[in-house]
Amino acid sequence: MRKKIVAGNWKMNLTSEEAILLFDQVSEKISNQKSVDVMVFPPSIFISELAKKSNSSIQIGIQNFYPKDKGAYTGEISISQVKNIGATHVLIGHSERRAYFNETELFLKEKVDIALEYQVGIVFCCGEPLEIREANQEMTYVKKQLEDSLFHLSSDDLEKCIIAYEPVWAIGTGMTASIAQAEEMHKSIRSWIAEKYDKNTANSISILYGGSCNAANANELFACPNVDGGLIGGAALDAEAFLNIIHSF
Ligand code: PEP
Repeated sequence: MRKKIVAGNWKMNLTSEEAILLFDQVSEKISNQKSVDVMVFPPSIFISELAKKSNSSIQIGIQNFYPKDKGAYTGEISISQVKNIGATHVLIGHSERRAYFNETELFLKEKVDIALEYQVGIVFCCGEPLEIREANQEMTYVKKQLEDSLFHLSSDDLEKCIIAYEPVWAIGTGMTASIAQAEEMHKSIRSWIAEKYDKNTANSISILYGGSCNAANANELFACPNVDGGLIGGAALDAEAFLNIIHSF
């Protein structure tokens, strides 16, 4: 079953006091929220404290981890540690990690496999940079990202993943994809899954849109037949804006 999901990626922002305040402001207002799954990805150092908050209707994910069980990897966090501190989801393939930390398709595949092994939910990001869109190569580019890091999975495992389409040129730029561009890509992603697996699998996966999604445009984006919610960066740092996005369905 495709779920409606709104996820906030806080990136490398906020003090611990600000993170707790933001979390509380959002969770207070959505305690009865049933129709939309709400998720936040805080900086990892705040997760333990946020995860301890009982009765919260917000799921907590981590922005990054290292795909090895344990060992001499100074500065890194393993997937079992992620689970141990209460995170239920991981972001994999965010364009900032691909670009600034050189995370390759193969490395992302390793992350996908170990997250599934440890039964941690995955939000897998894909999306093309501006030059690829300008060369009209976005379909080939995004399809390859999915083929290289996700399409080796069984349909049962793929169904445990959430996909986020985030055109790189729209992230943090204020340049949102048009409704037609977002729907075209989401529909294509679903059709590639149907081709590779089957229609049931394609129809059970939530595909989120990310890239300058805000309270003013969420409504139109979420109304697209193949858009199941959003991965929100900047606007997730403001409780009112994030709540308005959640209520845009
Ligand atoms: C993101 O980084 O995942 C994102 C969508 O950012 P923004 O909403 O700020 O464009």
